Amino acid sequence: MLDVVRHPAALARLEAALKSALESSQIVCDPGLAAAHAGDWSEAPRKTPALVAYPRTPRQVAEVLRICSEYGQQVVVQGGLTGLAGGANPMASEIVVSLARLNAVEELDTVGGTVLAQAGVILEELAAQVEAAGWYFPLDLGARGSCQIGGNAATNAGGNRVIRFGTMRELVLGLEVALPDGRLLTMLNRVTKNTTGIDLKHLFIGAEGTLGVITRLVLKLSPLPTASTTALCALPSFDAATQLVRELRRALPSLSAFELMWADYLETGAQVCGLRLPFDAAHPIYVLLETLGTDEEAERIALESRLGAALETGMVSDVIVAQSMDDARRLWAYRESIGELLGHLKPFAAFDVGIPMAAMDAFVESVGDELDRRFPNQRHLFFGHIGDGNLHVLSGPHMAPESLHEVERVVYAATGRAGGSISAEHGIGVVKKEFLHWSRSDEELALMRSLKALLDPQGILNAERVLPHEPT
Ligand code: FAD
Ligand code: ZN
Repeated sequence: MLDVVRHPAALARLEAALKSALESSQIVCDPGLAAAHAGDWSEAPRKTPALVAYPRTPRQVAEVLRICSEYGQQVVVQGGLTGLAGGANPMASEIVVSLARLNAVEELDTVGGTVLAQAGVILEELAAQVEAAGWYFPLDLGARGSCQIGGNAATNAGGNRVIRFGTMRELVLGLEVALPDGRLLTMLNRVTKNTTGIDLKHLFIGAEGTLGVITRLVLKLSPLPTASTTALCALPSFDAATQLVRELRRALPSLSAFELMWADYLETGAQVCGLRLPFDAAHPIYVLLETLGTDEEAERIALESRLGAALETGMVSDVIVAQSMDDARRLWAYRESIGELLGHLKPFAAFDVGIPMAAMDAFVESVGDELDRRFPNQRHLFFGHIGDGNLHVLSGPHMAPESLHEVERVVYAATGRAGGSISAEHGIGVVKKEFLHWSRSDEELALMRSLKALLDPQGILNAERVLPHEPT
């Protein structure tokens, strides 16, 4: 492979070739500017790249890849850099392809309820444009103000509303992808039902940029909800939370979020963000729930009556139902403290494991005990989108890299024993690849390697991510 870092002449040749395909202003080699591309939100090693390319069209993305494959130049793809797995961090002599300027919403089909958007559109901006047209794009996560929809598809993002609308995989109807050799694969399907052979888009969703660069997406929209209710419940136990989610899913089809927070998470988050604790007494578990529908009063009455019944049986110990948008924002703030907590507990180990509901309580208790025993001076916080079995663990600050690693071993070994997934939504990147065998068999890993070799025989695109080294 070409080493543009150690060979300035090679970098100059590559730069000239890229500038012949793109405009000069789209190729940046200034270390001051390139420093903004050194890495994502994870604790993976960061590195300022020698060159950043900012293509403005899908064809230009393909052209950058074609030139890189001709030069044997390794590339890493970057979306909004909010990832928590280190997959977008430049390594060795990789240059960066940033999707930041490929950011137009091209077409909004208000009849069929689809949107065709370029990969670099920021999630929050997409949601706002869609809403202005009377439709709704339901994907929602804490990083909404910076993450890009291309990055969301590459990581198969989940977030707060999966319980009702599914993960990104369920929301993508069509994709366009630039392949490592410079071909542009345009598969911009717009119909929900399409049984015409292998659905190739699924190869690229969740592949974290290892097989191709997503350039455009057709996304499925939902009717715009016009009424929303939000409540924060205090619960006596995890068992009560599983009963409550079952009961609410049965009785309230409009349930759109069911976010669990163990006491430590809510209390530490409130402290870090300067929020007053929501209830007078402390409780072991809290649930933030939301419904999205069309009739404000009917929604509220239905929710209040269910929660009233749950209070009577003791399934719920206390509850606050938001009476206004401001109230709802105040309740969400406890869950949304994650951004501040990530900053506060740095260097952290962050997990997004998927655990079968039946095993979740024992998992939290045993992992919590083990982490408390081994790392008594650190915080170990548990929370998640429990309606879909997605548990987050945040542990820090860990000043020694070895201690970060030890936390990873504890959590992933317990995840494997519980029959869970080591990543429910953030992806594998570089930080989890050595643990992938806990969740995927040797046969699956071998097939993934074959697909990688088929589409990227030179290994120029997002190399050394997701797949662990083959055993020797
Ligand atoms: P990046 O971080 O830039 O990249 C992520 C990976 O995708 C990298 O491997 C990169 O190479 C690849 N990639 C990026 N763009 C493309 C493309 N166009 N084509 C091919 N590959 C590409 N995630 C959730 O799922 N649910 C949550 O609830 C959630 N909450 C979060 C809260 C906070 C505060 C933060 C900081 C992060 C959270 N995340 C969450 C993680 C992160 O926001 C998601 O993984 C998001 O989808 C990443 O998008 P991005 O554009 O920032 O991608
Ligand atoms: Zn999450």
